[in-house]
Amino acid sequence: MSVRVRMAPSPTGFLHIGGVRTFLFNWLYARQQGGACLLRIENTDTSREVIEAVDQIQDALRWLGVDWDGPVAFQLDTADRARELAEQLVREDKAYLDDGAIRFRQPKEGVVSWEDAVRGHIEFRNELLPDLVIVRSDGHPTYNFVSPVDDITDGITHVIRGEDHVSNTPTQINIRNALGAGQPVYAHLPNILGSDGKKLSKRHGAVSVDVFRQQGYYAPALMNFLALLGWSFDEKTTVMSESELIERFSLERVGASPSTFDYQKLDWMNGVYLRGLDDQTYAAFLLDWLAGQGIDWPAERVRETVPLVREKLERLDTYPDFVRFAFAEVAPAAADPEICLAAHAALGPVNPWTAEGIESALRSLAEQLGLKPGPTFGPIRLAVTGSKISPGLFESLELVGKETSLTRLAAAADA
Ligand code: GLU
Repeated sequence: MSVRVRMAPSPTGFLHIGGVRTFLFNWLYARQQGGACLLRIENTDTSREVIEAVDQIQDALRWLGVDWDGPVAFQLDTADRARELAEQLVREDKAYLDDGAIRFRQPKEGVVSWEDAVRGHIEFRNELLPDLVIVRSDGHPTYNFVSPVDDITDGITHVIRGEDHVSNTPTQINIRNALGAGQPVYAHLPNILGSDGKKLSKRHGAVSVDVFRQQGYYAPALMNFLALLGWSFDEKTTVMSESELIERFSLERVGASPSTFDYQKLDWMNGVYLRGLDDQTYAAFLLDWLAGQGIDWPAERVRETVPLVREKLERLDTYPDFVRFAFAEVAPAAADPEICLAAHAALGPVNPWTAEGIESALRSLAEQLGLKPGPTFGPIRLAVTGSKISPGLFESLELVGKETSLTRLAAAADA
């Protein structure tokens, strides 16, 4: 039987990174097994907010590189079918009317159990499970009913979801039994915590996919990082491409204990991915990111900055300030006027204007002044880039061009 899984977001608010991790595990598993991965929106209404959230969910998943098979399904579309099944259960005395609502009759004895692919054997005593409302008096079927109904209809073989759903599972299994359906495999993924051991929330850092995107994470790096939240290939491998993740993923190696979202590790990993990009891919990513930020710097110049920044950035959101000097005026800096004047004189004859030519002129200047390179280059950097931190000095001067470099040095000398 071929694997069929589903990602089942509730379209409320923004897409939380924990939910995305759950979807990713479904997707990795489906792709590895050559199975199907469905996207089912668990909506209870169709308001404008819901429609926006659905768009946002799809955008976020697409950006991350997660796709799905077939059209997006909406839980609300199966409400009629769920109601019919509830009425059938009433006729079979497996459910009953109560104040206009329909309640599911739980078995009164024995246990309901499953072998969780992550957490092992789990069982609940039926006598402790309340008879649950499956259709409200207003005619709306409830989540704990529609969800297993949809899973049955869609032929879902593996229900891979967050551990907060463990407590729903016994009821959903009993409902499936009442409807004559067997059990799928359940895999309940561990929670994701912040560094303080509390459930990951905004207090810890970004939690919405949109924010990660704005902060300039590279989607394959984020995917790699998310895959390691609860799953590992071995004790040591961290950097894995999408195809390696698909090949290596297994539910057996998902741990049951919560995993901590380590923002520093994510930044490190993002840096590893960024450094590994070729010029063209880096530039395309950068230009796309800048467009998303509403920054319309000339593409050609952005491309020219790539070799200067590639080794230095962990996230693109540090890029604009880092290279702004190459795109905008800098305020005349309070840099040592004598050094700036001397640099102005030393750089005048440099021709052609290349990083090598600039470097040799400035190194001779330092010698001439009897100074170490650091104290010589610092004021020049400040004058030309407006900052103490910049990409490599010689490359930066080359990038802004001779005229601008000299103008800025002169302005600093005058300031
Ligand atoms: N809609 C549920 C959620 O957002 C998922 C339920 C399930 O996967 O069965 O947590």
